[in-house]
Amino acid sequence: LTIAVLVLSISFFSCNKENKTSPYEEKVEKLLGQMTVAEKVGQTAQFTLDVIGEGENVYSSHFPFKLDEVMLKDVLVNRKTGSILNTASNTPLTLEEWHRVVSRIQELAIETTGIPVIYGIDAIHGTTYTQKATFLPQQIGQGATFNRELVRKGAENAAYETRASNLPWNFSPVLDLGRNAAWPRIWETYGEDVFLISELGKEVVMGYQGDSRDTVGKHHVAACLKHYMGYGTPVNGKDRTPANIPLQELIEKHYEPFVRAVEAGALTVMVNSGIVNGESVHASYNLITKMLKQDLDFDGVVVTDWQDINNLYERDRIAKNDKEAIKIAFNAGIDMAMVPYDVEYTDYLLELVDEGQISMSRLDDAVRRILRLKFRLGLFENPVFDYTAYDKFASNEFKADARETAEESVTLLKNEEGLLPLSANQRFLVTGPNAHSMRTLQGGWTLSWQGEKVEQFIDNKNTFLTSVKNHSQNVVYVPGVEYNMHGAYWEEKNINISEAVKAAQNVDVILAFLGENTYTEKPGDLNDLSLSQNQQNLIKALSETGKPIVMVLNEGRPRTFADIEPMVDAVVQTYLPGTFGGEVTADILFGKTNPSGKLPYTYPKHPNSLMNYDYKPAENRTEMEGAYNYGAVQDLQYGFGHGLSYTTFEYSNLKVDKSEFSPSDLLTFSVDVTNTGERAGKESVLLFASDLYASITPDNRRLRGFEKIELQPGETKTVQMQVKASDLAFVNMDGDWVLEEGSFKVQAGSEVVMINAIKSGKWSNAFR
Ligand code: BGC
Repeated sequence: LTIAVLVLSISFFSCNKENKTSPYEEKVEKLLGQMTVAEKVGQTAQFTLDVIGEGENVYSSHFPFKLDEVMLKDVLVNRKTGSILNTASNTPLTLEEWHRVVSRIQELAIETTGIPVIYGIDAIHGTTYTQKATFLPQQIGQGATFNRELVRKGAENAAYETRASNLPWNFSPVLDLGRNAAWPRIWETYGEDVFLISELGKEVVMGYQGDSRDTVGKHHVAACLKHYMGYGTPVNGKDRTPANIPLQELIEKHYEPFVRAVEAGALTVMVNSGIVNGESVHASYNLITKMLKQDLDFDGVVVTDWQDINNLYERDRIAKNDKEAIKIAFNAGIDMAMVPYDVEYTDYLLELVDEGQISMSRLDDAVRRILRLKFRLGLFENPVFDYTAYDKFASNEFKADARETAEESVTLLKNEEGLLPLSANQRFLVTGPNAHSMRTLQGGWTLSWQGEKVEQFIDNKNTFLTSVKNHSQNVVYVPGVEYNMHGAYWEEKNINISEAVKAAQNVDVILAFLGENTYTEKPGDLNDLSLSQNQQNLIKALSETGKPIVMVLNEGRPRTFADIEPMVDAVVQTYLPGTFGGEVTADILFGKTNPSGKLPYTYPKHPNSLMNYDYKPAENRTEMEGAYNYGAVQDLQYGFGHGLSYTTFEYSNLKVDKSEFSPSDLLTFSVDVTNTGERAGKESVLLFASDLYASITPDNRRLRGFEKIELQPGETKTVQMQVKASDLAFVNMDGDWVLEEGSFKVQAGSEVVMINAIKSGKWSNAFR
């Protein structure tokens, strides 16, 4: 019996007050003093360029790269633009091409204003617009690993490859709450839990930015927290539609991950495109200036989301024209406008400052933040880096890290009668629309916005099918249902279920790879959360054969499948696992690796029965035996944190160092976890706390600690987790954090310990 003690490391972040005094303040002031108003206005603009457009072909040496010099000059010389993002052509470039694009941009910008441009990109699971980049699982899969170290490492590697592409600013991480399964961007989140999101959010910020937010070196990039805030829970589930969130919940759940990531040093924040509680977030002085900039002492840049100033006029109709929309957004606290509909943006902003409708001090504040960011990124000394010096780009080391993260994300949801792991001697039918597609493994934001160009630009072609074939000689492949890769997002074609059924007659096990085609943002809006009828029919028909069925899900969000669940013997969730998803899933199916992912969200059973694990009791009567009027029963398919292994773990000895505590205490919990099975395995140890009685209905339970460990057969480890008493507080109706006297039940596995708050506490500071 080996006993190892794991101590949750508590990072002491630099105090926020210090943010105010970056080492660059004198330089920033000096530069600001020399700038014309037009130059200041230009700094706040962010455009996208057609880097392979039709213009004068100045820098092209080969297809497909062509730099549109006419557009470049308009944007950089005439408009004096401070920032560029993405590529309008939505095509990935090589490192060398990126180097040429960015060099030319910097050359023109520095010639014109002396100030380098900051180029931003959505490198959300790897460097999206760079050929050969290393792709991790999407954030939802990273959440399922419950592994801080892997998430940090993945962020470090992604930062390295992004900077190798000469892109110093990453529009990542997404800190929205994945609490509404209908919402098409749930796969871009770390799942539904506030604590998990906050913890992984901090790791990712530190992984992207490195050790010091004031000197983000050549292997790091600036993080951008998005989408501040309340974006993830639109009432009707459709992207960019209004959310109604009580102040109490807004602060306790939606604000918290942003607070923690700002505390960890995040340099920039992107604003929610939508409307929260009736207010367009881009127009909200309260949310942007007061709660983000002032209350959190945030000295970084606040950027809009795509064309969102324009939305204040054309969509939300709180401005009568484009110019008024700019005034409203700037006065609410926006510093930079992402893709302002037209280059006229800079003319309007100039006029507004001229007319005093936006004060010079507000403009100066925005520009100061942008210049500070550019100094922090070292762009003045190094507007471009030599890409050939980045020898770890797409290296085996980075690939191994991405592979490990994918491996730890895959979640075994059901395994009846030990159908898994499979044996190589069995005969298999591989079926389903996701069986043989690199695109569906990756998801959106991969080499193009919707992921539609993946197959064209990826080296590794190991799909589920080819990976299964690497384990067994006896594989027949009949898709049964296919996606129309070039049609509408939810179109399926070549429905040949009978052929799949025929093929199933001669096999021992059916492996059905089901789920979704890729989508990003609005195109992913759905009218029905159920798994497609064709795919359900495929399972129904196959189950008639009596052969055992393994259902492997490859999907951005939990699609419901209550009717067919009893027909399948095993269920494996792979989320959007990235480049190595096919390989690691086959390794798990054949028992080469032991699965260790856990669901980072509640898997609903029915489309009309969406819920989260920390529900208020009134939402679920099943918790209250015999009570009739408490609320509805809401069935769920699989709970938050559910995930099986090929071994078994037993929990014992949950202890706490103080069973009575005060608001400023730090509590240390410890629990013994033993591998009682036959093979080695990894286990995410989750610690939940429940406030028994409170002045407003307490959440059912809340995650307050997690640690991932590895155990050999028979081995026991003692896992320690520290919880600040202030993290047992909740937000009251006035928006203050309060800890009330009384009992809490704390749980890890089957183990329970009771603790008691003997003094109350109250914090109006979000950092507590
Ligand atoms: C998305 C953002 C993204 C931005 C830039 C928007 O449509 O909402 O998440 O960062 O585009 O590509």
